[in-house]
Amino acid sequence: MKILLTGGAGYIGSHVLVCCLQAGHDVCVLDNFSNSSPEAITRVEALCERKVHVERGDIRDIALLRRILSEGGFDAVLHFAGVKAVGESVAKPLKYYDINVAGSITLAQAMQEAGVYRLVFSSTAAVYGDQSAMPLTETSALGQAASPYGRSKRMVEQVFEDLQMSDPRFGIAILRYFNPVGAHPSGRIGEDPRGEPANLVPYAMQVAVGQREVLSVFGDDYPTSDGTGVRDYIHIMDLAQGHLAALDYLVSTSEYRVWNLGTGRGHSVKEVINCLNEVTGKVLPLRIVERRPGDTAQCWADPSKAVADLDWHATRGLHDMLADHWRWQQQNPDGYGKR
Ligand code: NAD
Ligand code: UDP
Repeated sequence: MKILLTGGAGYIGSHVLVCCLQAGHDVCVLDNFSNSSPEAITRVEALCERKVHVERGDIRDIALLRRILSEGGFDAVLHFAGVKAVGESVAKPLKYYDINVAGSITLAQAMQEAGVYRLVFSSTAAVYGDQSAMPLTETSALGQAASPYGRSKRMVEQVFEDLQMSDPRFGIAILRYFNPVGAHPSGRIGEDPRGEPANLVPYAMQVAVGQREVLSVFGDDYPTSDGTGVRDYIHIMDLAQGHLAALDYLVSTSEYRVWNLGTGRGHSVKEVINCLNEVTGKVLPLRIVERRPGDTAQCWADPSKAVADLDWHATRGLHDMLADHWRWQQQNPDGYGKR
């Protein structure tokens, strides 16, 4: 297939790019590199021994999208481009609605004009909001997402559902990711956060390599087994392979479909830290601090719909995720370097 990958230089996009190239697909990446480096693409090219066509530009640029899509002969679009920092989304909601919502609408318009009807979209477990009943299924009632970021993703889901209803030529897969961590096992590509990492594993990794002093554990008084927050961490390569499974599904069906991509298993912050201590052979310095506003006690997936429909399931456990993430972190303490 010929695939347009928006945001293909980012953390998730670059790992999906590897899977697409290894599956024999032709890929064009559209990215404005606002949160990534062209070096990620160079490394993927070296890993896969394939060239990737790159278009530098913005998903909100309708003229650019029209040109790329009308000239390209694409069979599908995998749409990762967007902004994802929960805290920033509270301070700058318009940025989030503009890039995530307006950008996705622009992309869909250009796809419809060009007659490209297969679309896989990066959504998030954040659309479920604060829930007490676990695990989360795709039919769990959707609470109010806690941030403009989560709400922007839910809005895009709704836009795409309405679009597919109005134009049944579209086949649209919504993938609700749980907590992606890890890196390609080669250690050549991985997550390269800008500034202070907001997420547990990248922050803990920077403490482990000595770039930060101490890991703050956000609350140990949650109603969970050890009092710390529980999440469904999924290896980035398992997550990436879920995209190819969704793409295969869309080859034979034009529908709007939603799938959770998670492992079905929750781990507490303390479990993650204990496993990381094992992987690194160090004892991570910690301090228990107040709960982080907006955090939920627990969140894990029921992935059985993806297992049944897509014949996909996560195969790697927490130890594999952290060992692969650690390899990337050690080999690339400064990520991809200057950007
Ligand atoms: P990322 O920031 O590493 O990748 C996003 C990519 O999109 C970057 O390369 C960035 O430069 C590009 N981009 C941003 N705005 C753009 C624009 N206007 N035009 C063109 N390119 C643009 O993030 P990621 O972790 O790889 O996430 C990919 C997608 O998955 C995002 O949509 C994110 O919201 C979603 N998601 C991520 C997580 C997670 O924990 N990483 C969880 C759930 C959902
Ligand atoms: N967390 C933490 N310290 C950190 C970052 C996160 O204790 O520096 C906790 C957080 O409260 C949550 C879990 O780790 O219980 C996962 O948080 P992350 O930000 O990685 O993912 P999300 O909250 O988006 O699920």
